[in-house]
Amino acid sequence: MRYIRQTPIITSEGQKKLEKAAVAVVGIGALGGIAAELLARAGVGEIRIIDRDLVDEGNLQRQTLFEEQDIGKLKAVVASEKLKRINRKLVIKTYPTELNAETSEILENVDLILDGTDNFDARFLINEYCRKNNLPWVFSAVVGTKGQVWPILPEGPCLRCIFQEPTESLGTCETEGILNTLPRMIAAFQVTEALKILTNKTPSQKLLLVDPWQAEIQSLEVKENPACPVCNQKFEYLNGKKSKEIVSLCSDLYQFKTKNKPRLKVTKKDQYASFFKKGAVLKDGRVLIKAKSKEQAQAFFDRYFG
Ligand SMILES: [Zn+2]
Repeated sequence: MRYIRQTPIITSEGQKKLEKAAVAVVGIGALGGIAAELLARAGVGEIRIIDRDLVDEGNLQRQTLFEEQDIGKLKAVVASEKLKRINRKLVIKTYPTELNAETSEILENVDLILDGTDNFDARFLINEYCRKNNLPWVFSAVVGTKGQVWPILPEGPCLRCIFQEPTESLGTCETEGILNTLPRMIAAFQVTEALKILTNKTPSQKLLLVDPWQAEIQSLEVKENPACPVCNQKFEYLNGKKSKEIVSLCSDLYQFKTKNKPRLKVTKKDQYASFFKKGAVLKDGRVLIKAKSKEQAQAFFDRYFG
């Protein structure tokens, strides 16, 4: 009964496939949060939530899984709890960590990966993982009033066929901002393709460009690039290409790595992290610091963790 309104589209056979499927959602901000919620409501049996970030006040404008009371908590943890309340029959796995070459085993045995990230390092890693393991994934990106979504299938072109290097050519949410209706539209297209892939229907092969502010949608044909390293089985990111030391997340948070014990007052501790007033130290050695600038974050890090 629970899924009866989608049976005419998904079919009972398809519903069984959804219930047996495992999907990883990488990044549980605006895009990933909406996508994960739709997957949970559609009855996808196992959802893995991977996110390295804390909830920030500036997220609430568009990240609809989070509320004021969640500020300062780990996004992956808050999101997982919410998804369990939406559909208690699902297996929800929580990974409050960064997806990188060392942690990529998180993705083992999934059927599909949804990109909810905000950077090309993570996307290139997902792209390589999927190519290597013959898995489909759905790329998505939003910035300003423009969004993109593209199902990337094992037999077709990959992300690296069109983006040779990590790029900020799409803009960053720092300079362009983000319209809060946009992630909903992109995630809706993304999950639609996900449901088609998981139920063995034919997904779109096109790169969709959406601009709700201009009320425009375009779709582009993408061609394979014979010089693409990933399609030629060269996996630079999966083999541990050096990750950046300092990373600005799409909020006022900055990420560092440390092996030192913090020299500041811990206000709360749980199984994943120790929290302090301006951020958190995670079990994986990452320090997230809330600051107005990179310099300010660096100064804070040097003082208490250096
Ligand atoms: Zn390629």
